[in-house]
Amino acid sequence: MAASLVALDKIVSLAKRRGFVFQSSDIYGGLNGCWDYGPLGVELLRNVKEAWWREMTYRDDIEGIDASILMHPRVWEASGHIGSFADPMIDNKTSKKRYRADHLIEDEIDRLRNKEKEAEADALQERLDKAVAPEDFYQIIVDSGIKDPAGGTNDWTEVRQFNLMFKTFIGPVEDSSAVVYLRPETAQGIFVNFNNVNQSSRQKVPFGIAQIGKAFRNEINTKNFLFRTREFEQMEMQWFVKPGDDDKWYDYWLEKRQNWFQEFGISPDKLRVKPHAEDKLAHYAKAAVDIEYLFPFGWGEVEGIHNRTDFDLRQHAEFSGKKIEYFDQGENVRYTPYVIETSIGASRSTMMFLVNAYDEDEIGGEKRDVLRFHPKLAPYKVAIFPLIKKEGMPEFAQKLHQDVQKQYKSFYDESGAIGRRYRRQDEAGTPYCVTIDGQTLEDGTVTVRDRDTTEQIRIQAESLRGWLGERV
Ligand code: ATP
Repeated sequence: MAASLVALDKIVSLAKRRGFVFQSSDIYGGLNGCWDYGPLGVELLRNVKEAWWREMTYRDDIEGIDASILMHPRVWEASGHIGSFADPMIDNKTSKKRYRADHLIEDEIDRLRNKEKEAEADALQERLDKAVAPEDFYQIIVDSGIKDPAGGTNDWTEVRQFNLMFKTFIGPVEDSSAVVYLRPETAQGIFVNFNNVNQSSRQKVPFGIAQIGKAFRNEINTKNFLFRTREFEQMEMQWFVKPGDDDKWYDYWLEKRQNWFQEFGISPDKLRVKPHAEDKLAHYAKAAVDIEYLFPFGWGEVEGIHNRTDFDLRQHAEFSGKKIEYFDQGENVRYTPYVIETSIGASRSTMMFLVNAYDEDEIGGEKRDVLRFHPKLAPYKVAIFPLIKKEGMPEFAQKLHQDVQKQYKSFYDESGAIGRRYRRQDEAGTPYCVTIDGQTLEDGTVTVRDRDTTEQIRIQAESLRGWLGERV
């Protein structure tokens, strides 16, 4: 069954039952927009981050950093976040519910399309694409007679801009001079470190700086599981180029990033590239596209590729009073590099890999849920079972498990019928199950069962680590 047809609820409940993802502060009823990764989820998340980190930094021309979450407040003035990192919000006076004005309009467009009113939907989309000021959104909502999805009335407040940055205070005094923000993106930690990295690593343009880290946004509405949360992780890379070379590198990274998704099992028909309309570009961008995945609820952005020009470095130079430039020794010229950014959510892409892996099929007339993760992303790489709990099989299996575990995350299980043990691993996405049986004790071979095909082969137990090495 295609993942796009599977209800998200099924995946969310499997995720909870098997220990991938729990609501934050579950026993207190949860905290909106925050999630915790359980024993399987944390492995999956780490593997996604590791796959990205290897792809991006295990090359000569990209350096990694890990900047702090709290930064000097001037950073966010320079970046434009204090002035314009805001979403349009609207309240319904009857239900007292708050919505993102643009999302209300998008939902209305979806409704029209579902009723096959394509012309009306197109007209509304065109108005939404042009909307910039709060009044624009308000007028569209009023003109289209959009009602509150919760209460059904249309007594709306004005639309106001709501800044998404979380504010807090540094030190013991809560006054305005102590205000700091939880970073809403990791990118600025890279820009403010441009001189430090450039000088210490002696890289030559073009080169990149990559970072994985937490980001926080006080989203007006959170929804769709890990898709839109208030605390999340980003994996961002800023690629510094000579002005004029930026278009070429933009194309390069767009292609390279799409390939990465496919390498880890995302099929091309579930991926699309959506350019931002020119008049909707962020204040810093010359060009931008979203790489979108077909989630159960529709298409959603997973990664953005942006040409940020020299906006950020220039702003930080101006606000800090420090020179931020690159000196090209060969050509004896000094310039402010342009930046191509690749920005992907670690949590959002983990959700994508989870959704993408989910499948239901039948084995010998019995239904099973299976997570078909790429072996490199799977939480456990292998599970090891003794066929029965006697005749030395558990001892053999334990020894093999301890040996394999030195290198690969392995799961030992001796309880229940072998079929049930397989099923449990299918649900966890473990690509290989190894069983120790009577023949093992005679000739040292074990069976290896493949999660996807359920086919079994026999290999020598002592070659298992090497065998796994070629696959995971
Ligand atoms: P959206 O339009 O969905 O709010 P955005 O265009 O503001 O997203 P960017 O600022 O480009 O997103 O962020 C880059 C990436 O960070 C996104 O592609 C997404 O994967 C991730 N991301 C952004 N906001 C969130 C969030 N609230 N929860 C989870 N991931 C997020």
